[in-house]
Amino acid sequence: MPTINTPLVELHHHGLPRVGPTTAKKLAAEIAVIAARPDPRESTVEDLLHYMPMRYEDRSRLARIAELQDGVTASIEVQVRIGGVIPFKGGRIKLYEFIATDGEGQVRAYWWNQIYLARVFHRGARVILYGLWKKNHHKGYFEVENPEYEVLLDDEEENESPETGAIHTSRRVPIYRKLGDIRTRQLRSVFHHLLKSLEEIPESIPSDVIRRHALLGRDAALRRVHFPADDAPIEHYNEVKSAAHHRLIFEEFLWLAMAIGLRRGERTAETKGARIVIDERIDEALRAMLPFELTGAQRRALGEIFADMTSDRPMNRLLQGDVGSGKTIVAVQAMALAIENGYQTALMVPTEILAEQHHRNIRRILAGTAYNAGLLTGSLRAKEKRETHERIASGELNLIVGTHALIQEAVEFDRLGLAVIDEQHRFGVLQRAEIRRRGLNPDVLVMTATPIPRSLAMTVYGDLDVSVIDELPPGRTPVSTHVRGDDRREKIYEFIREQIRAGRQAYVVYPIIEESEKLDLRNATEMYEHLQRDVFPEYRLGLLHGRMKPAEKEEVMSAFVRNELQTLVATTVIEVGVDVPNATVMLIEHAERFGLSQLHQLRGRVGRGAAESYCILLAQYEQTKDARERLKIMEETTDGFRIAERDLELRGPGEVMGTRQSGLPAFRVANLVRDQRVLETARREADYLLAKRRDDPDTAAMIERVSREPRFGLADVG
Ligand code: ADP
Ligand code: MG
Repeated sequence: MPTINTPLVELHHHGLPRVGPTTAKKLAAEIAVIAARPDPRESTVEDLLHYMPMRYEDRSRLARIAELQDGVTASIEVQVRIGGVIPFKGGRIKLYEFIATDGEGQVRAYWWNQIYLARVFHRGARVILYGLWKKNHHKGYFEVENPEYEVLLDDEEENESPETGAIHTSRRVPIYRKLGDIRTRQLRSVFHHLLKSLEEIPESIPSDVIRRHALLGRDAALRRVHFPADDAPIEHYNEVKSAAHHRLIFEEFLWLAMAIGLRRGERTAETKGARIVIDERIDEALRAMLPFELTGAQRRALGEIFADMTSDRPMNRLLQGDVGSGKTIVAVQAMALAIENGYQTALMVPTEILAEQHHRNIRRILAGTAYNAGLLTGSLRAKEKRETHERIASGELNLIVGTHALIQEAVEFDRLGLAVIDEQHRFGVLQRAEIRRRGLNPDVLVMTATPIPRSLAMTVYGDLDVSVIDELPPGRTPVSTHVRGDDRREKIYEFIREQIRAGRQAYVVYPIIEESEKLDLRNATEMYEHLQRDVFPEYRLGLLHGRMKPAEKEEVMSAFVRNELQTLVATTVIEVGVDVPNATVMLIEHAERFGLSQLHQLRGRVGRGAAESYCILLAQYEQTKDARERLKIMEETTDGFRIAERDLELRGPGEVMGTRQSGLPAFRVANLVRDQRVLETARREADYLLAKRRDDPDTAAMIERVSREPRFGLADVG
C-alpha cells in the first residue's frame, strides 16, 4: 500500500490502474517542478496530493440543453454528431467545430486553431463541455467558444462501474489543470485509485489546535479536497472555502507563522553592537539639517525608528510609504543619528541611476554638515573603486550610497551601525542578511513604495516591524490619469508639445520584457529616434536605458534635470525613485504589459512639483476586457495602498513581490490575499503556542520540524 511518503517514481509498483512506469515518471517530474524538488526522485505522494483541483463540477446533475441560458456558464453532456475544420483568411486561421446533441436539442462548439481536435472528437463520442453559452439567434441553438472538454470513454468501466464506483460522471468531480501532458481525466483517475489504496494519512498538527479551531483531520481534508462528499455544497469547494480547503490553508499558514515567530524570537534575543543615544546637541544637529518641515506621518515614522535605534536590540524595520511620500529624508535623519553617535551608515538601492540621484540629493541635504558621503557602484573604474573601498574601510566616509556593490567581498565597513535598503521589493532576504553580516549587528531599515496591507507585510517580510507614512507632503496635486488607445497618439503628442511650450518636461516609457529585451530596447531606441526626428524636431530628447554605460546615464539624467532635454525616452530604469519636479507628463507605452504597482511607481515620477501633472497610459494591442478593467483602476485612484491591494488580488503576491525574492515559501493551497483572515488566526495560534505552550512535546515537535525544513528559511536567513 502506498503511503504519503512513497516516492512518485515508484508509484507503479502499487498496482494502481492506469499508473504504469511512464506515468509514474511523468508525475514525479512534473510535481518536482511544482514542489521545488531539485530531483524528481524526491517527489512524493504527499506532494502530488497537494496538486489541487482548479475547480469542481457537479456531474450528478448536469444541465440539459433545454436548460441552457444565454450568457451563462454551464457544463452539459452531449454526443458528437458531426464535426469539421473550416479555413478562414485564406487558410491562415482554422476553426474546428462540431454539432452535438443530448437527444433533445443540439449545440455547436468551436475552437480556433486547434485542428488536432478533429482527431479527438469522433462521431458518437460522449463529451462533457464546459464554457460560456451564447444563443445563436440566427440558427436557433446555443454555441460555445473554446470550451473545456472531457471525452467520456464509453467502453471503460470507470464511468459507472458498480465495483469501482463512478469516477468521472454522476458525481461531484474535480477538474485539474493539465500536468505536463497528463489531462484532467487521467489525473482524476490516478487520484481516485491512489486515495482508495492509500494508508491513512497521519495528522501533522497537535490535536488541541485541531480542536480549538474545529479543523478537519489531515486525512479527511486531503481526500475530500479531491473528491468532495456527495452532500457537500459545491460552491464552497469552488470558492476554496470548504472545510477541506480551510484545514489545508490553516496548516500552511500555521507552519509559516511558527517560522516567523521563531525568527522574531531569535532576533529579539540579540543585542546590537552600536550604542545610540539622542541628546540635546544631536537633536539640534538633526533639526538644523531639515530642508523643510516634516509631515506628521514622517515624524511618527521617525519616532518609531529612533525608538528602535536607541534600544539595545537591533532595529529590523520596514518603512512603507507611497511614491513621493518622503521616505528619503526620514532615512537621512536616521543615518545622521547613527553618524552623530560615531557610526558608519550605508544606503543600498537597486539601480545605479537611483544610487547616483540619492547620492546627489543627500550631499545637498548634508551640505551644512561635516559628514562625508560617498558613492559605490559596480561600474566605477577599478581605481576609483579601490579608493572608495579604502575610504570606507578607514572610516573617512560616514555615509555610503551604493548598489549591490556594497555587499561585494572587497567591501569592509568601519563600524557600520545602520544599513538602509531602499525599494526593498527589488532585493531579497539574502541581501538584507548579507549587509547585516557586514556590520556590528547593525540596525536595518528597509523602505518600500509597494505598500501592502499591514498583516500581509508582516508575513511577507517575515520578522520586520512596520512603519507607515500615509500622508503626502503638502502642495501636491494628484496626477490626472487617462487610458488611451493608439488612435489618440497624435493628440497626445500635441498635448506634450503644449506642456513643453509651457516650460515643462515629459517622460515616454517603454516596457522591457526579459525574454525579448533586445527587441524592446530597439523599440525604445527607434521610438526615440522617430520622436526626435519626426515628432519633436524643435526640442531636444534624451534616451535612457539599462544597457547604457553609467557615465552616459548620468550625463543624460543630469541634462534632463537641467531641462536641457525636454523629453526623456526611457525603459523602466526610471521606475524607482527618479525625481525631477519639472516633469509633468508621463506617457507609458504598452501600459497593458505592466503590473499596476509598477504603473503606480512610474506615475510617481510626475506630480512632484506644484504644477498639474498627467499620466497617459497607451494600451497598444486590442485591449482585453481584463486589461481595460485593470488600467481603469489607475484612472480611479492615486492611492498606492489600494492599487497594491488590487494588484495583489489580480496577480498574486508571487508576481507582485517575487515570492522567491521575498524569502517566502511558495504556498500550495493558501493564497495570501484571499485567505488573510485565516492567516490572522493561524498567526495568533502560533504566537500562543510559542508563548504559552512552548514546552509541550507537540509544540517542541513543530519547532523541530520548522527549524529543520529549509523552505521555512530559518537555517540560513536572518
Ligand atoms: P519617496 O518616498 O518616493 O522616496 P522622496 O523621499 O523622494 O519620496 O520625496 C519626494 C519629494 O518630496 C522630494 O522632492 C522631497 O524633497 C520632497 N519632500 C519630502 N518630504 C517633504 C516635506 N515634509 N515637505 C516638503 N517636501 C517634502
Ligand atoms: Mg524613494
